[in-house]
Amino acid sequence: MRHTFFDNSGTSGYSRIMLILVLPFIIVLLAYGAYNLFFIPDPVISGLEAFEFLPAEETVTIRSENVTSIDIYLYQGGEKVELLIDKPELSETTYSLPVRPKELGLADGSAIVVVKAKSGFLKKIKHEIRSVIDSDPPTLEVLKAPSVLNEGSAGVTVLRANGADEVYVKLNDMKFKAFESASPRDRDNQRHPGSGDARMYHALFPAPFGIDSSNVFYAVAEDIAGNKNIKALSTSIISKVHRTSSITIDKSFIEKIVSPLLNTVSISDHKSAFRMVNEEVRGNNHNTILEIARKSGDRTQWKGRFLQLKNSKVMATYGDERAYFFDGEEVSRSVHLGYDLASFSNAPVEAANSGTVLFAGDLGIYGNTVIIDHGLGLMSIYGHLSMMMVSDSQPVKKGEVIAKSGATGLAGGDHLHFGILIHGHEVSPLYWWDPKWIEVNITNYLDY
Ligand SMILES: [Zn+2]
Repeated sequence: MRHTFFDNSGTSGYSRIMLILVLPFIIVLLAYGAYNLFFIPDPVISGLEAFEFLPAEETVTIRSENVTSIDIYLYQGGEKVELLIDKPELSETTYSLPVRPKELGLADGSAIVVVKAKSGFLKKIKHEIRSVIDSDPPTLEVLKAPSVLNEGSAGVTVLRANGADEVYVKLNDMKFKAFESASPRDRDNQRHPGSGDARMYHALFPAPFGIDSSNVFYAVAEDIAGNKNIKALSTSIISKVHRTSSITIDKSFIEKIVSPLLNTVSISDHKSAFRMVNEEVRGNNHNTILEIARKSGDRTQWKGRFLQLKNSKVMATYGDERAYFFDGEEVSRSVHLGYDLASFSNAPVEAANSGTVLFAGDLGIYGNTVIIDHGLGLMSIYGHLSMMMVSDSQPVKKGEVIAKSGATGLAGGDHLHFGILIHGHEVSPLYWWDPKWIEVNITNYLDY
């Protein structure tokens, strides 16, 4: 029988040859597949939440890991806009994507951002982000602002904004929240015609210790997409001359007063123990106060002048700079940002004005401490108490006895540390004991 190309023996010979030829490719393919499946990690894209709100101008920063190819498109209506196409070949890559919706032909409103990434040829991910495009910044007008503020005093600015989700006064890296006016909108419109849908805001803000004439207060109206409208306030600042006093501390003060604040009974290095309390613990306590201050309510709860501890003598004032000496060597410095008032031991302490207790507990260097919220970011603080007679969230009336004076915390003897806080920053209580100053500088603005 003549062997043909199609007979059995011929076919098996051909298959063998084909197998020998193809097998290496199959093995390579399987190995490559296994490598992709087991050795190439999953693609990861982070920072995509930045696409959720897109203002008029934004640089979205995203990061890719284990990615061989990535593309990002934005869809709106029938439009498809390319934001990124790249092949980073698995290297960790950070992308800064400038997004200007108007230049890309996009309208304000909703859109979808679709992100697709691959690593190798088997691992793919897809993210869809619902995005809100808002390229319209809020309007902002400064209706009233103090012309001048002394370091350690405070002021109010009256603002009108439309389309803002957050309004505040900014000084360096500090932010002082403005509260929307409690008065009915139509009354505002009657008094300030032409305001449309705009809302009125009052921002109480401090001129904190250390400020000088080169500092500028800014009013800022910001929307949820991050669009900002910023106006500089015309307020000028007068700084004060700071007085420095020297205080000598000894071993027994550090062992008796300082060591409990570090939760220890054995101190090997007295100098560094004092430094730790005066600097680190003080700093932590200040941060706690800033945190508490964020809970200030949106209505004014106080009226008229603040009360000073009855029959008290002023032992230390606002802004006293203190240099501490141990064994003849300066070991630490701090600034005293309240008033120290001494009467007799365990003297009754009254609420300086009406408000709500926002804190009653141990506060490090301040010892047993009560903080009363008076609203719109204004609070009073009472430190070194021997006994507290109020608790958290309790409403208090001006003149009500809330505590007894003492010497808890970093105190050498029985006295009351009294402070006025604006958004958690201490200002001088002296102004707040003066009814005329309050009327001219605070009430007249809050009633505007
Ligand atoms: Zn004090």
